[in-house]
Amino acid sequence: MRTLTLPDGSEVLFPDRPASADFGPLPYKLTVDGAAAVRACQVQSGDLVVAQFPDVAGIRATDHVPEPFVANPRAVSDCPCDGCVECEELDAWTLADHARIADADWRFICLAPPEGDEPCLIVTSNQPIAVIRDGVVARAKAAAADSPVRTFRVMWSIDFEARTPEEAARRAYEQLQAYGADAWPSVLEVEVDGVRTVVDLNSEGEEGV
Ligand SMILES: [Zn+2]
Ligand SMILES: [Zn+2]
Repeated sequence: MRTLTLPDGSEVLFPDRPASADFGPLPYKLTVDGAAAVRACQVQSGDLVVAQFPDVAGIRATDHVPEPFVANPRAVSDCPCDGCVECEELDAWTLADHARIADADWRFICLAPPEGDEPCLIVTSNQPIAVIRDGVVARAKAAAADSPVRTFRVMWSIDFEARTPEEAARRAYEQLQAYGADAWPSVLEVEVDGVRTVVDLNSEGEEGV
């Protein structure tokens, strides 16, 4: 358990990241020791978002982000999203009372536009967020690129409906051939020293996080 101090001096308790399989390791050997607490409106593009704290006074329960992501913050009125569930909910809130139209942009912020099946991440501007700052992430990434070559095991698996192993194998082979031509969502599991990292090659940056 550590305590992080927001730029305005208030503090949030920041417990250790859960050790369960749902909470993967941070990329580039980063640890939460490098985390800083900021308000959502102070999150900068490139910051790695690792946890959120509820926007209420008093003791705050930490919401660790299972798969930390790189922030790409925008005003909610300037989000490239074409209407995800989160944006629709915000629209409904805004339209319920016209006085709220002017409020939406200072009350809320979109920390990351939708990716795959995930909707926008919209939070209140004041919500405390634990991030690893852009510069720290960039240095760790550069250091990781310099590390010695080693063996990584890359895994993926697919379930096929078939009557025989041969039929399943043939379908798998056809599927693999199709990957070359299709825009396939490349989310792969990479394992080294027993630690598994999920790498989404579609996310921003050539290595993803
Ligand atoms: Zn959206
Ligand atoms: Zn958005």
